[in-house]
Amino acid sequence: MTHVIQLEGVAKRYDSAGAPALGPLDLGVAQGEALAVTGPSGSGKSTLLNLVAGLDRPTEGAVTVAGQRLEGLGEHALARFRRQHVGMVFQFFNLLDDLTVADNIQLPAQLTGTTRRRAAARAEELMELLRIQKHARAYPGRLSGGERQRVAVARALVNRPALLLADEPTGALDSASGQDVRELLADLHRGGQTLVLVTHDLALARACAGRTIHLVDGHLAVDTRAEAAR
Ligand code: ADP
Repeated sequence: MTHVIQLEGVAKRYDSAGAPALGPLDLGVAQGEALAVTGPSGSGKSTLLNLVAGLDRPTEGAVTVAGQRLEGLGEHALARFRRQHVGMVFQFFNLLDDLTVADNIQLPAQLTGTTRRRAAARAEELMELLRIQKHARAYPGRLSGGERQRVAVARALVNRPALLLADEPTGALDSASGQDVRELLADLHRGGQTLVLVTHDLALARACAGRTIHLVDGHLAVDTRAEAAR
């Protein structure tokens, strides 16, 4: 089985005394799998996401994402790796308000050296897929929360990442927009996208994730797969 994420003996300490904030733990996420990460505040969810995204480094153990061991990469290579292979979606969208929707979506493609023409074509394709093409020339500030999150998902997918990470993607949305984003993520998963979702939204975990891990004090307390795997 091809694993998109492989953690081996991974632990993170922010402070050399005391227990690690995360781990040590082993975790494999297969290609096409959708994993929900739950747990109380302070249980290590963001730490896990940051390690997988290559935004932070473990104190112990090895993190391999999309076949690349991250510990060997310097800061520059890590940033390039992230742009090419990992898409990220955040609770508060993190869109650039002075760029149009289309330009927000194209930006990560241009940062990896894709020509403007190809980036624009890929953005068009995604705007159509995510049903936001009518907002292409609008600025994010004019859109609803659900629409902004669709733009953020399109931006995250522009470089066809092996892995899409989402940190509380429905956390700032009203219930109708939340449902819209749940359906969007479930559709992406059905289309084969590997997903990791940190969420308190159990409906999101149920709708999108075939597998849920629950962290308590940095440890894997529960690892369950839905009976009818998607
Ligand atoms: P969660 O996302 O589940 O709320 P975190 O991963 O943010 O949990 O935090 C896990 C633990 O690590 C907490 O005790 C938190 O206080 C600590 N922690 C997180 N980030 C840092 C940091 N940058 N410096 C020091 N301690 C941190």
